[in-house]
Amino acid sequence: MTAATPEPLPVGILGGTFDPVHFGHLRLAECAREQLGLEHVLWVPAGQPPHRAAPRAEAAHRLEMVRLAIAENPGFALDDSEILAQESSYTITTLERLRALHGAARPLVLLLGVDAFLGLPGWHRWRALFDFAHVAVANRPGYPLESAELPQALAAQLVERERRAPRCLQSAPAGAICTFEITPLGISASAIRMQIGTGASPRYLLPESVLDYIQAHRLYSLATDGP
Ligand code: ATP
Repeated sequence: MTAATPEPLPVGILGGTFDPVHFGHLRLAECAREQLGLEHVLWVPAGQPPHRAAPRAEAAHRLEMVRLAIAENPGFALDDSEILAQESSYTITTLERLRALHGAARPLVLLLGVDAFLGLPGWHRWRALFDFAHVAVANRPGYPLESAELPQALAAQLVERERRAPRCLQSAPAGAICTFEITPLGISASAIRMQIGTGASPRYLLPESVLDYIQAHRLYSLATDGP
């Protein structure tokens, strides 16, 4: 009798502008990896995100900052395809590509903060995302998803698809919505950009290696960048 082939472990996908990457992103990815039983988390910096204003730092800088931030963690990997595409990057396109790469059986898990999840109905072909991946929403303790004002179309998807993690993620390759707990960290890239622009210190909000890179390349300072 031959031994059964082990089920492939889920792969997490964390997209964002990472302008710049900070400890909020890193903690989100680490909590997801641990609680959701992910094989690894794939970081996918956006090139030109279609849902929002152009990032302040160039794509190559944002990519390099993520590379520095995740370098020490063997459970994290970098995907530069959206950056290299040099055109508007849609999450659905990335998921189609990753599904083709990983095969039909591997569970893929799109990781989102609650704010990103609430904006999902504005994304290109958003309902099709569930054909390619599960969606895991980072639930800050004290701010449960249940109390958030959900758009009606999203609430309907939640009723249909919400499952308990991590089991649901391993029993199918895509289609479920689950939540997971993260350490609440009130850090945002926009606040960090503003601090740097006004000469305030963003130290301890992001890795030292990323801060060194920002300083070496004079990113986000008022003298070199627009508002
Ligand atoms: P900005 O302030 O420019 O809007 P951001 O800090 O929200 O940027 P993004 O690159 O837009 O960073 O976020 C990527 C993902 O990380 C999103 O799903 C977002 O919800 C999540 N995220 C960002 N900051 C945090 C945080 N402090 N805690 C939990 N999740 C976060």
